[in-house]
Amino acid sequence: MAYERKNIQAMAAYVPGEQIDAPGILKLNTNENPYPPSPRVSEALARCDVARLRQYPPPTARSLANAIAKLHGLSGENVIVTNGGDELLRMAIATFVETTQSIAVARPTYTLYQVLAAAHGCGMTVFELDDNWHMPDNYGELLNHSGARMAFLVNPHAPSGTLVPVAQIKELAAAYNGVLLLDEAYIDFVDPDIAYDSAQLVRDHDNVLILRTFSKGYSLAGLRMAYGLASPALIGPLMKTKDSYNTDLISQALAQAAIEDQEYAHDTWKRVRGERAVVTQALRKAGYVVPDSQSNFILAAVPQGLEAEATYLALKEQGILVRYFKSEDRLQDKLRITIGTPEDNRRLLDALAAL
Ligand SMILES: *Cc1c(COP(=O)(O)O)cnc(C)c1O
Repeated sequence: MAYERKNIQAMAAYVPGEQIDAPGILKLNTNENPYPPSPRVSEALARCDVARLRQYPPPTARSLANAIAKLHGLSGENVIVTNGGDELLRMAIATFVETTQSIAVARPTYTLYQVLAAAHGCGMTVFELDDNWHMPDNYGELLNHSGARMAFLVNPHAPSGTLVPVAQIKELAAAYNGVLLLDEAYIDFVDPDIAYDSAQLVRDHDNVLILRTFSKGYSLAGLRMAYGLASPALIGPLMKTKDSYNTDLISQALAQAAIEDQEYAHDTWKRVRGERAVVTQALRKAGYVVPDSQSNFILAAVPQGLEAEATYLALKEQGILVRYFKSEDRLQDKLRITIGTPEDNRRLLDALAAL
């Protein structure tokens, strides 16, 4: 006997990257930050008072939300704190999209969007990015024409790591009359010389909802903390649909400790950027085609004579996990590789050279 709704019966579950935790395994497959979180996070954990768990946590994580607002030069009413970015994505669909309407995605992209749309029971319109992973010309008009109520754009793009300049996002936000969900999961790794400023998007466009997460930039994927930045026109309705106590007391304190230690976080980002250049160069020299990444991963097309899936399997055999997207046509000859520490990357490059 099946008890679930028809759309749940019909849908396939999201397939996360393999989470194998064994000694000697090098995980370069789920884009975690290779460096530990700020030492202030463990200090904050040591200060946590278990007796306080008797009471409910601050429902909107006010203290953390204020620290986030301050960091971005926005106000508390522009912030919603969530239990991971994935919760924000789910809430956004539930809040802004009728089940009779649709979302839009530009493929290839984060495959969770389509899973969440299927679970919600709404439709999905698919656009294709071009060969440089850029969105179509006049994308705003195309979106309006499609009737999609919410469009998902990941910037820097996953899985290629390429970045769309903020001016182009502004144009899109102005042209599109639905909600533009801008997934900035990897924005912390963008070269600071590019001066990408998302706060201005939030101030100038009331239809832009930005996702930020502690999982990648702040080395806290295990904590499950993230936030949304948007105008009150979007934050207000999201506040209605979130669980009353969606983030717990301990996570709020640890996330705040992490975000208040910008110096430490910036240092890890800088190291990742340095290693990103090293890995990109080494792979290009070895014949891989690698677009410039502004993220903490690169997308590498394997050279002639190698097969991506076989390369993925050969690396796995040696305890090195990278991501291979079997089901995406345009990714069949490519591997997505997370940037690790210098030692991690050396191990990867040596293993590839030996193939
Ligand atoms: C990691 C990631 C997220 C959010 O992850 P959480 O761990 O749930 O915060 C969102 N979008 C993309 C593209 C990601 O890679």
